[in-house]
Amino acid sequence: MGLSTSDLEKIKDLLNTPKKIVITTHFKPDGDAMGSSLGLYNYLIQKQHAVTVVTPSDYPSFLNWLPGNDTVVSFFSKAEKAKQLIAEANLIFCLDFNELSRIEGLAPFVGESTAIKILIDHHLDPHEFAQFTYSDTYACATCELIFKFIDQLGDKKMINKPVAECLYTGIMTDTGSFKFACTVSETHRIIGELIDAGAENFKIHEAIYDTHTQDRLRLLGYSITEKLQVFEEYNTALISLSEQELNRFNHQTGDTEGIVNYALGIEGIRFAAMFIERKGLIKISFRSKGDFSVKEFSRDHFEGGGHKNASGGRSLLSLEDTVAKFVSLLPQYKNQLTK
Ligand code: 5GP
Ligand code: MN
Repeated sequence: MGLSTSDLEKIKDLLNTPKKIVITTHFKPDGDAMGSSLGLYNYLIQKQHAVTVVTPSDYPSFLNWLPGNDTVVSFFSKAEKAKQLIAEANLIFCLDFNELSRIEGLAPFVGESTAIKILIDHHLDPHEFAQFTYSDTYACATCELIFKFIDQLGDKKMINKPVAECLYTGIMTDTGSFKFACTVSETHRIIGELIDAGAENFKIHEAIYDTHTQDRLRLLGYSITEKLQVFEEYNTALISLSEQELNRFNHQTGDTEGIVNYALGIEGIRFAAMFIERKGLIKISFRSKGDFSVKEFSRDHFEGGGHKNASGGRSLLSLEDTVAKFVSLLPQYKNQLTK
């Protein structure tokens, strides 16, 4: 679902006069969520709008260097401010999520707001809750769509260094540093333009990937050495971490990101899962190689969704029972996982 020429004209008109704009994104935002939100923020402020990025929760500290980060309002730490900004907004951009439930506590306020909503996203099955929807499920990253959105509005020249740094970050993180199947030549062409616009690729890679705490590295080591379970019969591997284990390594938001990929990195493994005990629920990450759709699996069994090869879900069972449920489901997928 691209934006029609008439949609673009309407959006151009809307953006022609100063607006109160809120940009929001999914719970526990990742590099693409924050990159697209702050990329759009850094563009819109050049057009004299009053813009605020409002997140439904906190996010990893390795994203704190993104230009504009200091202006972000998190519903976790500033709930009243977040509600006020949403209530006063004329325009709300919804980025990198496909249904309102993904913004958790912010959902009722965004849902009830009379502001015009613009959804820009690359997840499968976008819900129709916005007046304008720009959805491209083949795109690697929402950041790619923000690049095209700005271009389609005729404002490519406004992709300055801050915008470029934010958009580069989201494309880099959502493509696994340009290695996932969604990475096509166009992705690299966009990346080339972002580098030309001022994104310093080596600095961004370092800021995101080489700024971890010792605790995070030790948690990764522990997860792989002590917590990895491999089910060879089903080409499946999993890692689970209890709250107590996370506490032992002084866990901070973002520390478990990417660990699931090590399980998927084993030769022959097609399906990997990571179970993390968070207050009151188990947060699950699924990854796959090839045709096995973890989006369907997550939707059917763990109230989740996402993409074919990367999805997430949740469970209200205990950690042990959640893992047991997962393992008990594997036999019915044996054909898909081993063919
Ligand atoms: P991650 O495992 O990195 O949290 O998420 C992988 C992908 O699945 C991301 O694209 C993310 O947006 C999506 N995802 C994660 N958790 C959920 C969830 O609870 N529901 C839905 N619908 N998608 C999710
Ligand atoms: Mn994304």
